[in-house]
Amino acid sequence: MTSMLEFIQVRKSFGATTVIDGITAEVKAGEVVVVCGPSGSGKSTLIRTVNRLEAIDSGTIRVNGNDVHAPGTDLNRLRTGIGFVFQQFNLFPHLSALDNVMLAPMQVRGTSKSEAREMAQALLARVGLAEKAERFPGELSGGQQQRVAIARTLAMQPPLILFDEPTSALDPEMVGEVLAVMKDLARQGMTMVCVTHEMGFAREVADTVWFLDAGRVLERGTPDAFFQTPQHPRAQKFIADIR
Ligand code: ADP
Ligand code: MG
Repeated sequence: MTSMLEFIQVRKSFGATTVIDGITAEVKAGEVVVVCGPSGSGKSTLIRTVNRLEAIDSGTIRVNGNDVHAPGTDLNRLRTGIGFVFQQFNLFPHLSALDNVMLAPMQVRGTSKSEAREMAQALLARVGLAEKAERFPGELSGGQQQRVAIARTLAMQPPLILFDEPTSALDPEMVGEVLAVMKDLARQGMTMVCVTHEMGFAREVADTVWFLDAGRVLERGTPDAFFQTPQHPRAQKFIADIR
């Protein structure tokens, strides 16, 4: 299988604090990676380096073979080619769900309005929101808004989607509907890197779990190996604490 995303000896500091401490890791096409670890371990920073929301100090990051941090890289093209789903949904409040999903393909790709509308309707149906197409974000629950945000990401047909705690801002009863959409994407072969505290999702959906601590990947393996026979004492403690 080919590499979708590679980190090679990546380092990043904020002032005197080393946040990413020499990470080398790979995500293959079609792979679902769950990134977990204690708060402050560098999870958000790591995935934000992938579309250059954060600069790196040294090392290499490649998406689909392209060096993300090379000086000549077209930042707009890079960012529109990578899906990113945040804790905060960041929908445009003055646009309907449908218009939120249609916007980027029309503005960035020059997709015609009729084609964008058709695609957006299909994507809203895919995330279970066909009936809510004309609603504004303020008329939708948090779980529904996050599903619109996922549909909006899918509209750009990214080969890779990064999720940074997509369910952390949701009321507990809405977490399941968002995870169900993510499971569906995983089943359909989407390449995904998911920072999440949802360990049930990790067990069920991840091909590989990365455990980060103090900017290093201390452990990586299948969910079974990670949860049943963690090797590193910090991974053992992390798993014991979430039980
Ligand atoms: P996580 O997502 O695992 O909770 P983060 O990647 O957000 O961790 O943060 C890792 C470390 O980097 C933390 O110590 C955090 O305080 C620090 N940090 C993150 N962003 C910044 C920033 N913009 N400036 C300074 N320090 C930062
Ligand atoms: Mg974070």
